[in-house]
Amino acid sequence: MVIQPKVRGFICTTAHPVGCAKHVQEQIDYVKAQGKVDGPKKVLVIGASTGYGLASRIAAAFASGAATLGVFFEKQASDNRTATAGWYNTAAFHRAAEEAGLYAKSINGDAFSDEIKAETIRTIKEDLGQVDLVVYSLASPRRTHPKTGESFSSVLKPIGKPFTNKTVNFHTGEVTQVSLEPATEEEIRQTVAVMGGEDWEMWIHALNEAGVLADGAITVAYSYIGPELTKAVYRDGTIGRAKDDLEATAHKLDEYLQSKGGHAYISVNKAVVTQSSSAIPVVPLYISLLFQVMKDKGLHEGCAEQMYRLFADRLYNGGETPVDERGRIRLDDWEMRDDVQEQVASLWGQVNSENVEQLTDIKGYRSEFMKLFGFGLQGVDYDADVNPVVSL
Ligand code: NAD
Repeated sequence: MVIQPKVRGFICTTAHPVGCAKHVQEQIDYVKAQGKVDGPKKVLVIGASTGYGLASRIAAAFASGAATLGVFFEKQASDNRTATAGWYNTAAFHRAAEEAGLYAKSINGDAFSDEIKAETIRTIKEDLGQVDLVVYSLASPRRTHPKTGESFSSVLKPIGKPFTNKTVNFHTGEVTQVSLEPATEEEIRQTVAVMGGEDWEMWIHALNEAGVLADGAITVAYSYIGPELTKAVYRDGTIGRAKDDLEATAHKLDEYLQSKGGHAYISVNKAVVTQSSSAIPVVPLYISLLFQVMKDKGLHEGCAEQMYRLFADRLYNGGETPVDERGRIRLDDWEMRDDVQEQVASLWGQVNSENVEQLTDIKGYRSEFMKLFGFGLQGVDYDADVNPVVSL
């Protein structure tokens, strides 16, 4: 079939297998061009099919030559539907890893469930023995608790009082005011249950109890802080509460892993265009401005650049891992630079529907968004008939 993008709001319901493969290859090429990192050897990535998890997997494999096991929730093609982007990304990753002589296997299913944890442990035992790095990079709107069966939904809302600010429809460039009502206590609780640290803790305990964590194993989960502009909806909002919980879990897990010489880290990553971040109100307009400013200053990074820096400069730099006063790795250091934030804040005051194309890098945002689904990549023939059925 000829595959066209079908965009609805912040999702695209189709994905292009050739384009996704190209997108993955671009990230692999970037990492390979940066040089080797004496890093992990056997890596489990939970949330490995898109965004930061996929980029972590690419960095582990192509900078450090690691064997990787990926866990994610994606759909394969059926009837007239394409597979999801993460499915095609993973197929492309597997091909590239195989060509490079690297072990790569993936498990598709609900990472929050006991079954998928058990299957992952079985696979590690059979194929790898143990892992020395566990990356936790899930972003999900829902979670079913494996013990109680309770289903939780996360919301992106402020806490305490309503929040009004600018936002953009990044497809049309229309800048409007968005008003968000504060979350209820129950919504806060559910968001923390989905995006907080409980599941990460369950994973690390299960892996350790099964004896599949190597001595000195590291685990890392990803957080975000961001600027004043998005504070009410992000860091001080429901998702921020979940990140507080995730960060508290890192301290608990760090202690838990101490006896085996291991560590648990939070890495605060920069804002990038992913399927998850495009769903957060206000954030796409902030990212469009941020990209403009960071590109002007030669500081622009995407997932691959960030994750390579995480491996090369932070986790596997040959010495101490530099952290902030709260023990967090800060890969948002360039995003949060005073000169960057001052410029973004000043442009924020001026931006409207008329000047958004000039003042911001909304074009870059759009193009990154389409690339998430394999569209708009150089050298891909989008008129060609392609087979949407791709096996992993
Ligand atoms: P993403 O949407 O690109 O990736 C989410 C991953 O989770 C995918 O692999 C998906 O398949 C997997 N997943 C979702 N639900 C699952 C389930 N039930 N079982 C198994 N797998 C499941 O998201 P992302 O933006 O890369 O986010 C990853 C982490 O990075 C999150 O913790 C996020 O908060 C953090 N982060 C993101 C940004 C950003 O700007 N995007 C910035 C800083 C930190």
